[in-house]
Amino acid sequence: MPCRRLLAARPRLRPGKGVTMTDDSNARPKRTMRHQARSIGNRKLKPATMMMGHGYDPRLSEGALKPPIFLTSTFVFESAADGKRFFEGVTGVRPGGAEGLVYGRFNGPDQEILEDRLALWEDAEEALTFSSGMSAIATTFLALVRPGDVIVHSAPLYAATETLIGRILGKLGVTWLDFPAGATQPEIEAVIDAAKAKGRIAAIYLESPANPTNALVDVEAVHAARAAVLGGSDDLPPIVIDNTFLGPLWAQPLAQGADVTIYSLTKYVGGHSDLVAGACIGATSVLTPIRMMRNTIGTITDPHTAWMLLRSLETLELRMSRAGENAAKVCAFLRDHAKIERVGYLGFLEEGSRQADIYARHCSGAGSTFSVIVKGGEAEAFRLLDNLRLVKLAVSLGGTESLASHPAAMTHLSVAPARKLELGITDNLVRVSIGVEDAGDLIADFDQALAAV
Ligand SMILES: *Cc1c(COP(=O)(O)O)cnc(C)c1O
Repeated sequence: MPCRRLLAARPRLRPGKGVTMTDDSNARPKRTMRHQARSIGNRKLKPATMMMGHGYDPRLSEGALKPPIFLTSTFVFESAADGKRFFEGVTGVRPGGAEGLVYGRFNGPDQEILEDRLALWEDAEEALTFSSGMSAIATTFLALVRPGDVIVHSAPLYAATETLIGRILGKLGVTWLDFPAGATQPEIEAVIDAAKAKGRIAAIYLESPANPTNALVDVEAVHAARAAVLGGSDDLPPIVIDNTFLGPLWAQPLAQGADVTIYSLTKYVGGHSDLVAGACIGATSVLTPIRMMRNTIGTITDPHTAWMLLRSLETLELRMSRAGENAAKVCAFLRDHAKIERVGYLGFLEEGSRQADIYARHCSGAGSTFSVIVKGGEAEAFRLLDNLRLVKLAVSLGGTESLASHPAAMTHLSVAPARKLELGITDNLVRVSIGVEDAGDLIADFDQALAAV
């Protein structure tokens, strides 16, 4: 049997948007409603359910239950007119993006299915996937900035993001102004106002919770501050937020007024510490320039990694839920331990505090990444790290396995001492990311390791 259906590129139909195929595409099998159904009766299906089939029609791939990995660099057009139309979409001559599969630097079936599924978690119009979290961030900035622009951002940021803004975009004549993660609306307004006086504001860039302080950013206050200071402008800077630590399960900042959420899919979404990837999620109008930049510079994720992420998404809710439950149990144990000074965990915010208020408005769970402040200094923290047996000594987070590291000596080693103090990155701080192991086993591991401290 000829592999016509395998050759037939997956028609690019946006689910639920009523896109109709033009005549010269009629020969191709169409995606059926069965695989796009987003509801049963008036019940809207949950993302966890949609991860098993959304955006993929087995009839286009020999009936394979699971999407194949499409290892191809280019796609065959059925007619020259098709090719022309697809290129009009890819190059932005016509808005709305590519209508068909064109070339591996622009799109591919695995990446498109992945993007369709990712968007569901935040109820967004569109998602774009990238070769890493940093390439998602860099592509976004490259799409948004012009020389002389100012970036307003929350602080602290992921170290590589700070380097990108300060040193790399700085070379292109872009400057920045920041406000601390927990800032109030008037404080944020003052910074936006000062930035406005310096130049065009290219973006308001947030990261919440901040690493390693876990301070939450009030996205609603940022949205209101932007409206208050720049309200009349028809060129409002987008609010972009790195949602790696709590998204997409425990925080969905698009609902609080963010325009784009950014992910390192390397962390919870990939979830098995076996791939590097990133994503941007938001409205098509905001993502279009970012997509055009990705098309130009080629920061799209590869088909194999996209396929791995499709597999990861099927268990995303299970993994994150279990990790979150485990973290709550481990933190409850650590908080009462004689050798622990404090546990910096979002589940332990002081009642009535501003942070607790932001948490109540923005988050549905405390995550599974937190800080443990050991009584003593570097020696005590190192002894804890060196004696853990199940919990591995490695940077990163969000995997099935629990990890622990020492920010002051590792991820934040190059941060100036005064800045470290300001951020609360002390020598007795251990960063922990809890996985999906048995919670009792993890507690036993911390118990025996702390006995050796
Ligand atoms: C890991 C991480 C990044 C960078 O992602 P990569 O996939 O390593 O490029 C960005 N932001 C946060 C918050 C991260 O944890």
